Amino acid sequence: PALSPVTVLGLGPMGQAMVRTLIAAGHPVTVWNRTRSRADDVVAAGAKLAATPSEAVAAGKLVILSLTDYQAMWDVLGDSTGSLAGRTLVNLSSDTPDKTREAASWAASHGASFVAGGVMVPEPMVGTDLSYVYYSGDAEAFGAHRTTLAHIGEPRFLGDDPGRAQLMYQANLDVFLTTLAGFMHATALVGSAGITAEVFLPEVMQLFKAIPVMMDADGVEKLGARIDAGEHPGEAANAIMMGATADHIYATAKSSGVDTSLPGAVQEYYRRAIDDGHGTDSWTRIIDGMRGPRS
Ligand code: NDP
Repeated sequence: PALSPVTVLGLGPMGQAMVRTLIAAGHPVTVWNRTRSRADDVVAAGAKLAATPSEAVAAGKLVILSLTDYQAMWDVLGDSTGSLAGRTLVNLSSDTPDKTREAASWAASHGASFVAGGVMVPEPMVGTDLSYVYYSGDAEAFGAHRTTLAHIGEPRFLGDDPGRAQLMYQANLDVFLTTLAGFMHATALVGSAGITAEVFLPEVMQLFKAIPVMMDADGVEKLGARIDAGEHPGEAANAIMMGATADHIYATAKSSGVDTSLPGAVQEYYRRAIDDGHGTDSWTRIIDGMRGPRS
């Protein structure tokens, strides 16, 4: 039997990769993109190009969006709301949980089901065994399209709050972006003394590989369970020791003439834990000072 038709709106690198994957799995795919020429490759691969967003939406019950942000969805579909009733919109674009919830209400007001998603792999890995995608929102609509969506990556459904998948996505990228910024800050720091990135990056990768080992020393679930229970037993890496290190990094950046924003933020978190009387607790205690805004 023929597989169900799928519509994909947005043909950036991610949208194009999704279209190729769905076509390879045997789904008829209809596409639309603001810049028409970006559809050329997927059309050559077998996708059908619709003339308008409404025409694309009308082609299937499942409408996947892969756009820069949620405003782009309103820009694309704002004049086509009449075609939305009875469809399921699966928005795989990045934005805030609030925008995502707003979009779910907007879709509902036009008779459409809404599922939000966050793809956790870059474009070359879409559709491979390494790909996974967080989803949340309308559970019934998700269930109906789960098998189709599984071609893009392993689906991980997080419940009916449409903002939750977005929150999980942003939290993962919080680690990603903060870590990458750390790499570049440190590279600028050694660069102030003429040590090149070519020399430094292989050095720091050795330390970087120790982080998973440290996080997983007793099993990362156990570490998580302790943090959930508010337990931060002090070991070698307690807040005083790590805070002193943070002070040294800050002072080194300052005396080297390098920007101090990033080490200053890290230093502040340790200072709060120590000021709150938790200096001999584990470094994980800094989470307490991160749970609210800076007072
Ligand atoms: P881009 O951010 O390059 O988004 C591209 C698509 O959005 C294009 O089709 C573009 O159209 C369209 N678009 C943007 N603004 C508008 C608008 N106002 N009206 C109409 N169309 C608009 O693409 P990516 O494919 O890289 O990413 C898509 C989403 O996936 C993003 O939210 C991104 O954060 C997320 N993501 C990306 C990953 C990656 O590795 N790239 C990995 C995981 C998630 P046009 O071609 O006309 O400009």
